[in-house]
Amino acid sequence: MHNSYVGRFAPSPTGPLHFGSLVCALASYLDAKKNHGEWLIRIEDVDGTRCKPLYTETIISCLSSYGMESDRPIIVQSQQTKVYQHYLEQLKEAGYVFPCNCTRQTLQAASNQHIGPCSSTTNTPHSWRLQSQEVSFHYNDKIQGPLNFHINSQSNCPVLKRKDHFFSYQLAVVVDDHLQGITHIIRGSDLLETTDTQLFLYQRLNWTPPSIGHIPLLLDPRKQKISKQNHAQALPEGDLYTLNAALSYLCIPPSHCDTIKDTIKHAILHWQPAHLRFKSALQIKSEHAHLADQDQ
Ligand code: GLU
Repeated sequence: MHNSYVGRFAPSPTGPLHFGSLVCALASYLDAKKNHGEWLIRIEDVDGTRCKPLYTETIISCLSSYGMESDRPIIVQSQQTKVYQHYLEQLKEAGYVFPCNCTRQTLQAASNQHIGPCSSTTNTPHSWRLQSQEVSFHYNDKIQGPLNFHINSQSNCPVLKRKDHFFSYQLAVVVDDHLQGITHIIRGSDLLETTDTQLFLYQRLNWTPPSIGHIPLLLDPRKQKISKQNHAQALPEGDLYTLNAALSYLCIPPSHCDTIKDTIKHAILHWQPAHLRFKSALQIKSEHAHLADQDQ
């Protein structure tokens, strides 16, 4: 029997968890638990050049120290490559992908866009790209509200399997979310830009996409995303002060609880994603104001 709510947090082990990732993990966890659902951790280490096994353990242990444990055994994507190959074959048979051995230089000259299929063959090392096509999507983002995406024949054709044989995040995330029966995704709005390709893939594979919500992105004082690339600091394990700060960003009223466990219970009770939608609007407004200031 399928659970009516299965959520997940799917970190890439390219570094330890930072404050921005704690906020995303908590948002997905609170939403799942408020809805009496299951919450899964999935390790997205398809990019073998950037991910390190060492961080997988650190991330799982850190999540646990903040009271978040996966309700099922944890899937590690690097062990799933046969599954991704199976669905790539399906897309090949349907004629939805094409081989590409264009070089980085050729693509740079075309602003890194690969529009339409090329004349590459499978005789030399090649990636596999998803053929774009005229299609529009309208979906109601659980936090951002109604959104429209449009893909056309002039859109970039994303890579699904790289020349070096690593599968792309785009294919792996769609296949795993589907196979794990994920019904709800709550993640950072930095991933909004990946959503159109994922919805297109769901359509190509004849699958129903989950409900998706993107929480407003946490920015550092330079208005940059808090990320491993920007040298965000590693989180301390099980720190109540850090947990309360993350929950306050998620619009949870102060709890005054003195344990992680009770604080999380309080947060589940008070979790209201609609409050983040309001915050999203405010954040966008203040960013516009900031840009207007710069223009003057
Ligand atoms: N693995 C992705 C990341 O760490 C997240 C994927 C997702 O939530 O869809 O950015």
